Amino acid sequence: MTALELDIAMRPRLRLAPPQMSRPSYIEQLLPLAKENVSMIVVMRSNATEEELNAVLTRIQEHGLKGRVTYGEERNIVGVIGAAIPPTLREEIERFPGVQEAVRITRPYKLAAREFHPQDTIVQVGDLMIGGGSFVVIAGPCAVESEDQIMKTALAVREAGAHMLRGGAFKPRSSPYTFRGLGEEGLRLLAQARAETGLPVVTEVMTPTDVELVARYADVLQIGARNMQNFQLLEEVGRSGKPVLLKRGMSATIEEWLLSAEYIIAQGNPNVILCERGIRTFETATRNTMDLNAVALAKRRSHLPVIADPSHGTGKWYLASPLALASLAAGADGVMIEVHPDPDRATSDGGQSLTCENFAALMPHMTALANVLGRRDARWRR
Ligand code: PEP
Ligand code: MN
Repeated sequence: MTALELDIAMRPRLRLAPPQMSRPSYIEQLLPLAKENVSMIVVMRSNATEEELNAVLTRIQEHGLKGRVTYGEERNIVGVIGAAIPPTLREEIERFPGVQEAVRITRPYKLAAREFHPQDTIVQVGDLMIGGGSFVVIAGPCAVESEDQIMKTALAVREAGAHMLRGGAFKPRSSPYTFRGLGEEGLRLLAQARAETGLPVVTEVMTPTDVELVARYADVLQIGARNMQNFQLLEEVGRSGKPVLLKRGMSATIEEWLLSAEYIIAQGNPNVILCERGIRTFETATRNTMDLNAVALAKRRSHLPVIADPSHGTGKWYLASPLALASLAAGADGVMIEVHPDPDRATSDGGQSLTCENFAALMPHMTALANVLGRRDARWRR
């Protein structure tokens, strides 16, 4: 028996995944391949035979590459491991009987890549379905400042049609001498606003040790731009299993942003919402440059929902509305907008916050544009 025959003989019998096993998520099936830096995946047909799968594995090995089978309830997948994939291998393998398709995996992120998982991921938050052709509007103040402020804002944005409430309790501030948030008291006020309005809440968590606390109050955990590459924090929110809103770092490439999403998903948490919030460029007329390229490209490269934050993206309240509409037109699955009942007195980001009235004026335009684009409301039980 050759080494190859022995290898094949020793493999577990194919399509015999234990029947009691619950349907594995794509993460369970693909994580082992992602960890080995898979270069191509071969998706077998659901009715492929053991012989057909063995033929594929044999051919992969003949090319000096390693084939790793992962078993799914619906279909088995062969990951091709090895750097030197011949350019013609994909077409060659696709001609094999029993093969549904072969896909080259060209990106360093895997679980976050559309190559790996072509269907849109839909992140469910209460009654909201984020991604997959819907449109979500998240609104609220930069920081939770007081009961009066958060309740007024929550009621006003709900009235105007927002789906979710935002508000920072732990604020990452460039200066240590500015308002850094109410901490747990802010979380309690957000929970109170949710109870009053029914709006789920998203709020930032800044350190791994706070994840447990923030997750007790929040529906979605926000990772701020300044923490996009805090890898321990990413892993901790990954382990929490809560939906995560991952902001793009202000000088992060799209690839780095998606690799940060990969950290979260690799912990078994597929519920990641990407958020473009503007990047630093040479331009000084606006706080940041709203990178709508990134919105459209992230939608193409990844299956994750992508939302946009035109408040931080522009830094100017009068630019937030036009850029919110532009984000929707560029393919964003939603927007996050700062709204304050009295922006002139806001403790942070007043200059980029809409008044409740301006937010209410924006919403009919958003809805009209969403209708033109054939986008569903994120609230699926209306
Ligand atoms: C925020 O959402 O208030 C915030 C701090 O955003 P960013 O992390 O994008 O600066
Ligand atoms: Mn802010």
